[in-house]
Amino acid sequence: MNFDDYCGVWVFIEQNDGKIEGVSLELLGAGRSLADKLQVPLSGFILGDGIRSLASQVIAYGADQVYVIDHPVLKHYRTESYMKGVIHLAQNYKPEIILYGATPNGKDLASAVATDLNTGLTADTTMLDVDVDKRLLEASRPAFGGNIMATILCKKHRPQMATVRPKVMKALAPDSGRNGKVIEENISLKEEEMRTKVLQIVNDVTKKTNLADAHVIVCGGKGMGDLQNFQLIHELAETIGASVGGTRDVVEAGWLPHEQQVGQTGETVTPKIYFAIGISGAIQHVVGMKNSELIIAINKDPNAPIFDVATYGIVGDAMEIVPALIEQFKSLRTEKGGEVSYV
Ligand SMILES: Cc1cc2nc3c(=O)[nH]c(=O)nc-3n(C[C@H](O)[C@H](O)[C@H](O)COP(=O)(O)OP(=O)(O)OC[C@H]3O[C@@H](n4cnc5c(N)ncnc54)[C@H](O)[C@@H]3O)c2cc1C
Repeated sequence: MNFDDYCGVWVFIEQNDGKIEGVSLELLGAGRSLADKLQVPLSGFILGDGIRSLASQVIAYGADQVYVIDHPVLKHYRTESYMKGVIHLAQNYKPEIILYGATPNGKDLASAVATDLNTGLTADTTMLDVDVDKRLLEASRPAFGGNIMATILCKKHRPQMATVRPKVMKALAPDSGRNGKVIEENISLKEEEMRTKVLQIVNDVTKKTNLADAHVIVCGGKGMGDLQNFQLIHELAETIGASVGGTRDVVEAGWLPHEQQVGQTGETVTPKIYFAIGISGAIQHVVGMKNSELIIAINKDPNAPIFDVATYGIVGDAMEIVPALIEQFKSLRTEKGGEVSYV
């Protein structure tokens, strides 16, 4: 394997029903900075049926060029057909780095491609950088139960590949004036040769708290003491129109369902405002919320690690501070024509 044949940073642009997944746009932002450091082009590659028009969006979000494989067999994601497309592109164009969103389809595709190309894959990455001299991707993720951050290198194979958690990287502001190249590729795919058939798509209609999309989150920890006190978290959230989250300890105590857990084994969130109340700030929790725009921590221990990532810290007893906040927010709350504001 001649490493000099490999050049460029690539991002898998995942689309579902013609809509690009947010994580792919975030990865274009991360990929842009890697490509600039390496002084190579950033490319997006997109597969699907009737998806050519999405290429301009990929360019607007930072790509220099977009590889498109548009084929009826690629209408729905299937490992076999998508893998064929990606292998075709990777073997023909030899990118040195390929990034995928750590979504169910992104993880499935990346692992199948890695096996076929006989290369490495770092899963669930939360930080990316590059060693420019050695041209090595530095893909970091929590390891050993989250007690350390491990930086994983792929020294002997190409392309270097990683899946990256949604909401960890930041998308660039789209610039519709950017110019880029669109390269259409044809591959031979026959429906009758596909081993899996999509018979029906059933959408999940269960009502879920979508923490990942919340603008304001009130997150409570074990420091709330018991389920009854935890109601203060719900009350504060309701008063300010926020979503409720919890730490793993809270979920294990049965105060909240798992879908409301924030952290390494829960949701990664990036709200505008994140209240961390009675939360110590263990690394496994912090990796899931540290990219929030503004973090307000309330903890009675002034040395709690949560204060290291907080924008504002309040040292004190949550049982006194949270009721005072609720009262204050209620007194400031005004409602006009259905719009709630605080003045
Ligand atoms: C593999 C693995 C994965 C994990 N994944 C996750 C995950 O996804 N998410 C997650 O959250 N954790 C996760 N954990 C657990 C994590 O390590 C911590 O144990 C957990 O985050 C601690 O939760 P906590 O902050 O609620 O509780 P504690 O660590 O017990 O902290 C409670 C805090 O409340 C403060 N406090 C107590 N009383 C009051 C009061 N009256 N007023 C104000 N403050 C008060 C205390 O000073 C303390 O700082 C994981 C662990 C492992 C090993």
